[in-house]
Amino acid sequence: MVFGSCRSFRPNFYTKGPGVKFYHVCKFVSNISGKSDYNNSMKLNPLTPEEKRVIIDKGTEMPFTGEYVDTTADGAYFCRQCGAALYDSKDKFASDCGWPSFDDEIKGAVKKTVDADGERTEITCVKCGAHLGHLFLGKRFTAKNARYCVNSISMKFVPRSQL
Ligand SMILES: [Zn+2]
Repeated sequence: MVFGSCRSFRPNFYTKGPGVKFYHVCKFVSNISGKSDYNNSMKLNPLTPEEKRVIIDKGTEMPFTGEYVDTTADGAYFCRQCGAALYDSKDKFASDCGWPSFDDEIKGAVKKTVDADGERTEITCVKCGAHLGHLFLGKRFTAKNARYCVNSISMKFVPRSQL
């Protein structure tokens, strides 16, 4: 896993919303986003068989078994495969569905694709295509009315003190 301490990296910032909130991510991430041919040259973290089953083969964790289902710590969630910043803990909420749930993403970090049957919307990492989970709209869980249902194993949590 490549998640180095940001103290040794040049800071980079992601902006969310009206430019009020900033997300500090390490140079490792900014290097990736700066490459136009990242599909060929992006350095990806090696995956365990279980990580591969979910991230590459689009599997799903058993509910209530993931590492981050009940995590409430302050910080950010990064793509386990490429290290891109995906979600802020401020957008995580207790949905009681068995998977980590967010009602917003870090701007531009998540791609949405409607499944072939048209019933569900798959969410993937914009940078590396890692399968994250599914997006459900209109369920009225929160005021934003969206629930990103994400497999814990697709993400890596980093406390804000280490960002
Ligand atoms: Zn990724």
